[in-house]
Amino acid sequence: MKLNPDYSLETLAVRAGQERSQFNEHSEALYLTSSFVFSTAAQAAARFSGEEEGNVYSRFTNPTVAAFQDRLAALEGAEACIATSSGMSAILSLVMALCSSGDHIVASTGLFGATQQLLGTIMPRFGIQTSFVAQTEVGAWQAAMRPETKLFFLETPSNPLTEIADITALVGIAHARGVLVAVDNCFCTPILQRPLDLGADLVVHSATKFLDGQGRVLGGAVAGAKKLTDEVFKFLRTAGPTLSAFNAWVLLKGLETLQIRLEAQSAKALQLALWLEKHPMVARVYYPGLPSHPQFELAQRQQKSGGAIVSFEVKGARSEAWKVVDHCRLLSITANLGDTKTTLTHPASTTHGRITAEQRAAAGITEGLLRIAVGLEAVVDLQNDLASGLSSI
Ligand SMILES: *Cc1c(COP(=O)(O)O)cnc(C)c1O
Repeated sequence: MKLNPDYSLETLAVRAGQERSQFNEHSEALYLTSSFVFSTAAQAAARFSGEEEGNVYSRFTNPTVAAFQDRLAALEGAEACIATSSGMSAILSLVMALCSSGDHIVASTGLFGATQQLLGTIMPRFGIQTSFVAQTEVGAWQAAMRPETKLFFLETPSNPLTEIADITALVGIAHARGVLVAVDNCFCTPILQRPLDLGADLVVHSATKFLDGQGRVLGGAVAGAKKLTDEVFKFLRTAGPTLSAFNAWVLLKGLETLQIRLEAQSAKALQLALWLEKHPMVARVYYPGLPSHPQFELAQRQQKSGGAIVSFEVKGARSEAWKVVDHCRLLSITANLGDTKTTLTHPASTTHGRITAEQRAAAGITEGLLRIAVGLEAVVDLQNDLASGLSSI
């Protein structure tokens, strides 16, 4: 049964995509099976040829995975969605499905590290070149376009400096020349930002982050027009990085609480950002929900709120930043984000540790920079934890 797409997001998050089995279970069923049985030889042939719709093998389709795909599609306002084994396999599948040798991509410099590696180092070996330009400079995207440009790939807000890309403006430039726009919507999720409503062609997700939201499983997804996701599906069913039924089931349950988590985490992040901004040992705070953010107005227009990621620079360099990290008893020292447990990262020595010091400086990743992915703990407890480190500097 297809749910009315006019239901509000919180209703879709709980109800969309569910198809009950003959047992009429209330909660979504978990179909842990690698293959499906046919009633006759003729049916097997019809399923294999695609003449008859239905499941064949879980590398192609699985009912639990389909439920997750349909629920996420409803949340993103997408015609269709294809789930993958991780966020990186979603990005890989998108590029492999839609680009060929000789094609060119324009992407932002502030992309997730593995995405930068994939586009900048691995894809050129297969004849797909990428030009990296500043997230915030619309003119630079236009200038980087070539006759063979096929795709704009962006991620907004960026990690860790929370720079905002103007999705509407970039879509305008891209579509004028028949170029597709894909947005990694990992940080905002459809609860805070719906890129397809702004004209983007595709949304990609690391479902590992906020969609699960509880640090349990890896997963990814590509959502958009069916004509495009069908191409992604053709690559995926052959190449194989599909989402497992178990992970899809966990993610379905994650989506049910996505809105209340994101809204609560975002409200706590704003409180924490305001507190950090006033702290005498903090030099600068990066958070799109703060009026001091250079793109505050664009963020207000494009996102429902600032999101759950706050970065800040301590007064000092690496040793001062590490002191703050090492004094924390509550915040987890880990690079993951989007969890109900607040995480703290020193990007210069971890997520951005493998790039050169010059590249880090160009990207604005200083030695004093720390990134917090705010979870669901009480703000006062997070503040006390950070305060003990900050006062030790
Ligand atoms: C984590 C992340 C990815 C990669 O996702 P995995 O599930 O770890 O493969 C891609 N983009 C962004 C913005 C991320 O934070």
